[in-house]
Amino acid sequence: MAKAKEGSRSAELDPDTGELLGGRKALVSALKRTADLLEVLGDQGLGDQGFRANAYRGAARSLEALTTDLPELAAREFKGIGKVGPGIAAELTKYVQNGIFEPLAEIEAQIPPGVLTLFRVRGLGPKKIRALWDAGVTSLQTLWEAAHDGRLAGMRGFGAKSAASLSDAAEFALASQERRFLNTAALMGAQLLGWLGGLEPRLAGELRRGLDTVGTLRLTVTGTAQQVLAALNGKLEGLEAAPGKPLVTGHLEGLPVEVGYAGAQARGAIDLTFGGGPEYRNRVRARARELGLDLSGRGLKRGDERLDTPGEQDALRELGLEYLPPEYRETEHLALGTGGLPDESELITARHMRGLLHTHSTWSDGAASIESMAREAGRLDFAEDGGSFLGTGDHSGAAHYANGLDAARLRRQLGEVRELQRSGLPLVAGAEVDILDDGSLDYPDDLLAELDYVVASVHSGFTLSAERQTERLIRAASHPLVTILGHPTGRLLLRRPGYPLDLEAVLEACAANGTVVEINASPYRLDLDWRVALRWRTRLKFAVNTDAHSLGGLQDVRYGVTVARKAGLTPGQVINTLTRAELLEFVKAQRAGRG
Ligand SMILES: [Zn+2]
Ligand SMILES: [Zn+2]
Repeated sequence: MAKAKEGSRSAELDPDTGELLGGRKALVSALKRTADLLEVLGDQGLGDQGFRANAYRGAARSLEALTTDLPELAAREFKGIGKVGPGIAAELTKYVQNGIFEPLAEIEAQIPPGVLTLFRVRGLGPKKIRALWDAGVTSLQTLWEAAHDGRLAGMRGFGAKSAASLSDAAEFALASQERRFLNTAALMGAQLLGWLGGLEPRLAGELRRGLDTVGTLRLTVTGTAQQVLAALNGKLEGLEAAPGKPLVTGHLEGLPVEVGYAGAQARGAIDLTFGGGPEYRNRVRARARELGLDLSGRGLKRGDERLDTPGEQDALRELGLEYLPPEYRETEHLALGTGGLPDESELITARHMRGLLHTHSTWSDGAASIESMAREAGRLDFAEDGGSFLGTGDHSGAAHYANGLDAARLRRQLGEVRELQRSGLPLVAGAEVDILDDGSLDYPDDLLAELDYVVASVHSGFTLSAERQTERLIRAASHPLVTILGHPTGRLLLRRPGYPLDLEAVLEACAANGTVVEINASPYRLDLDWRVALRWRTRLKFAVNTDAHSLGGLQDVRYGVTVARKAGLTPGQVINTLTRAELLEFVKAQRAGRG
């Protein structure tokens, strides 16, 4: 099971860029983290930690600069690489074999878990974390307190300004720590469904509604507390029947779990009470009261009489309420009223997705070749008509940390794509071109014009002022050759908020120029946020893009579709539903329309 917390297993994301890590980069990341933690440990650990930290950092840099593939490096057991001594080479070889970087696991065990969480605060590095640890700051909570009671401002190396920004960063990290990424939560939900298999289990709560991160795993079943307790015995921590409520609670890998149970006759009522956000639930309950009824986890009751509600539809009928798709059961949708939103049957599904656009290959920082990515897209075949195709989208040169392609390499890649197309592989040629600080693009126009489509994204300059960031993105979104604005806010869920920006002004520019806005389907991004997409749904076209860096990453499509459904989008509003020929036509018309 994938865990959201950081650990000695290969990291999934580069903490600085948010790009997915694969292969060699996971090793570089483990080496860097080992160096960081050795610095935090300082003299408390065994031996000369400064020296060891430098050795790991040097090895990380050396490995980072190589262009050799991981399998090749592993085959020669990491021998003959500058700055990688025999000790580290042996540790790396083991890491590749069993997925655990042992020195990191050992060092992590010597540092209090609360101190390790301080790495999640933007602006804190090993030296500062060590100073905080010495001053008794050993958790996000104590960091927040120290920022507020003036202790931090008085500490050497911090000061009032850094105390203020650390307070904000600590607050963000605190709010994030109790939640999980959608992919992790979905796996945990599937596991719970399996364990509860005999009790007609269904997902409820945040997972059913498709929220972008999940704080509590909720399910409903038909059965009794004893049956739920028996089914989950030994699976959850702190498993117990909640006193006075038809609910069994516990924790799975630290995440709260709530299982609502009812007899078959009251099942619909609990599906309904567990099936919406707080405001929806309050509205439904208020409606019941108006009718002299009571809706709770115990069912729908008139006085002592329980009404038969085997299904959610039955409960709604008793209440005289229309069915709302679970995705719409949020404050934001209720504020709109249902009139303007499409019916559930009209919403986009994964079966509408043909073009898997914005994907990375071994040309930049992906783990698989273009050819195998294209074959995988064909194999997954989300589209009902077998028309799936892959859109390349490797990084441009400015993304040097991701082995981005300069113009000459992109031209060579384009040759490869055209060759693969001639051999019959379903492909379109694109790029994820970096938006430079001034809003210009990292490739010349004549090269961009040769591509079938272009994604433009920000991967640097996150600290520009909101004014400059807005101007930068408006300029890029208005570029005549940009098809799609990639991950528009740069947020990383549970890690960092988006950069300061007037997002409305940027989306206004997209609308004016016919620029498609990405809903990045990576569960670590889900950027554009569904709340924003919902507000702009009638004025923009969207692209649900996996940003896949591996074969497995292509499956992230479903998370992007979840966001699109929450935004009330139909297939016609998402360009990935176009056939390959239609997409090429779309890009042509888009470019022509800009004069
Ligand atoms: Zn990107
Ligand atoms: Zn990307």
